[in-house]
Amino acid sequence: MNKIPNMIQNTGRFSLLKIKIHPVFWFVVAAGLITGHFWEVASVFFIVFIHECGHAIAALLLGWRVREIQLLPFGGVAKVDDHGNRPMHEDLIVTLAGPVQHLWLPLLSYLFLLTDYWDQTNHQIFITYNFMILLFNSLPIWPLDGGKLMFLLLLKAFPFKRAYDITLILSCFILIILSIYVGVATPFTLNYFVVGSFICFSIIKEWKERRYVFMRFLLSRWRDPVPFHSTTPIVVTAKMPVATVLGLFKKGSLHPVIIEETRRHIEEKDILNAFFSGKCFDKPIGECFK
Ligand SMILES: [Zn+2]
Repeated sequence: MNKIPNMIQNTGRFSLLKIKIHPVFWFVVAAGLITGHFWEVASVFFIVFIHECGHAIAALLLGWRVREIQLLPFGGVAKVDDHGNRPMHEDLIVTLAGPVQHLWLPLLSYLFLLTDYWDQTNHQIFITYNFMILLFNSLPIWPLDGGKLMFLLLLKAFPFKRAYDITLILSCFILIILSIYVGVATPFTLNYFVVGSFICFSIIKEWKERRYVFMRFLLSRWRDPVPFHSTTPIVVTAKMPVATVLGLFKKGSLHPVIIEETRRHIEEKDILNAFFSGKCFDKPIGECFK
């Protein structure tokens, strides 16, 4: 992947932001240029770049560590180190900061019409791609922004581990339905095939790495706790393995645990200490905390 240092070089908590262009994007660029669609390619590139800058700037303003942003033909990915344990409203702001850019971009195209470099054809192409990228990106499929919003919504109802699993399963299901629809309702489009395959591989990769994502969630909770907006005790049986108990933890809630049989009350940080020290990894919680 090519690395292009961004112009967003800042002082203080802002740092040099790396922008990577994903090979899938290069494929779309090459296909566009070979077939003589220069303005389409330039428009998609610009729209996606602004979309990703929206995510990255929102994340930086909230003090997140943004490692890099990847540009993909339908949006992109802002890779952050604070994944999993930031307050819900911050996740929501960073996720929405990308799609929101599509609302003002048409106005920019209108302004360009006043210059000699931009005509009605360019304008129509720009408006169409801007809308298509916004629409596609809003689909509830991980890792699109719509998929991230679905995950945030599921986090309200389910523990982190389950919300993540459901997000990936639903994404897979919706992607299959969408692919069948595209396959039946429209002629074969190479771009959809490439982008659809990329999303499919992303979901499979995330599914394989879901335990790592969950560990990262627990680790950031243990090492770098952020203020919780509520405290919700969890009542468990003594036989339940510690790892299973941690699987019940919800984002944004502090979870003291009560063992049903002994009525023993355990602080969340003590369970995380026991888990990460390796003493109680898969032992029943009743054995670890007698
Ligand atoms: Zn996005």
